[in-house]
Amino acid sequence: MNRLIDRLSAEHSLPQEDFVQLISSFTPKTAAYAAECARKTAQAVFGNKIYIRGLIELTNFCRNDCYYCGIRRSNRNAQRYRLEKEEILQCTAEGYELGFRTFVLQGGEDPYYTTERMTDIISSIKHQHPDCAVTLSVGEQSRETYQAYFDAGADRYLLRHETADEAHYSRLHPAELSGAHRKQCLRWLKEIGFQTGSGFMVGSPFQTPENLANDLLFLADLKPEMIGIGPFIPHHDTPFAEIPHGSVELTLFLVSLLRLMFPDVLLPATTALGTLDPVGREKGILAGANVVMPNLSPQAVRSKYMLYDNKLATGAESAQHIADLRARFAKIGYEIQIDRGDSPRVKTSN
Ligand code: SAM
Repeated sequence: MNRLIDRLSAEHSLPQEDFVQLISSFTPKTAAYAAECARKTAQAVFGNKIYIRGLIELTNFCRNDCYYCGIRRSNRNAQRYRLEKEEILQCTAEGYELGFRTFVLQGGEDPYYTTERMTDIISSIKHQHPDCAVTLSVGEQSRETYQAYFDAGADRYLLRHETADEAHYSRLHPAELSGAHRKQCLRWLKEIGFQTGSGFMVGSPFQTPENLANDLLFLADLKPEMIGIGPFIPHHDTPFAEIPHGSVELTLFLVSLLRLMFPDVLLPATTALGTLDPVGREKGILAGANVVMPNLSPQAVRSKYMLYDNKLATGAESAQHIADLRARFAKIGYEIQIDRGDSPRVKTSN
């Protein structure tokens, strides 16, 4: 097994069958070795610095009905909300004071945010904070809409492909959604010039080791600047309420494999990891991640953006919280960097 890890470190990819072997039969020892190699790889590119992103959960209205997601349109128990521009600007102003230089606007696909409204929000943030990056994560849109977001000043876009396998995709989503279209959106985002992020859930229903190997190979082909992965966690008001959550250990192992595949990728230790394990984000960093995304959404709406049960709403509402986060990372030898934290692959004017 360690031989395969060494080969991945040196060559940054493996044949599908080797990924399948690693994923289906890794041991705690293999995972520890992979984490050590991944940590060294991350440190060679980013030192001991962690980038922070202020996450603003824009809206939990969604026109889609993904079977795994707590804010799917069929969930009649979700209490819906959306943020107006002024509320968003208040979050970014508070975030700026706390040291955030990237804001991530994430939400369901909510038609209320027309292209005009979104571009107004993006340009207002950029006007108030010209030294900050804006990342969007508002799902599948037309190429023209993505272009308008980019022209308004958005820098980055996160759109997980969820699963690269079309048959698996169709077991997680209703027929009106397709993996092929999601992949098309990712290609548009890259063509337009966004720093693009993709990724998948670990342990999603019906997922096989072959699916996961194909997810890695899909990413090898796409070459995204950012990759977000996290364990699937059930939500009690979805068709997958009874499916057990994904494994923290497998997620951490995959974080390490991804770091070895993409030494310079921006790789968050995700909220889902922190939800299943109180020190999940620290473990993510020690497995090769280099980004965390504390929540900057207004306190009143945090409990409503419930993608899955018990979702961690670790707030960054106070300087004290950032100090806590600093202390947690200092304990494992890392430091928060006050910086936009762009992909090392792109040159920016800031
Ligand atoms: N609507 C946008 C989109 O489709 O990309 C962004 C919001 S969507 C809720 C963000 C991510 O949450 C999805 O890409 C999915 O991977 C993750 N997610 C949704 N339900 C989840 C669950 N039950 N467990 C873990 N992650 C989940």
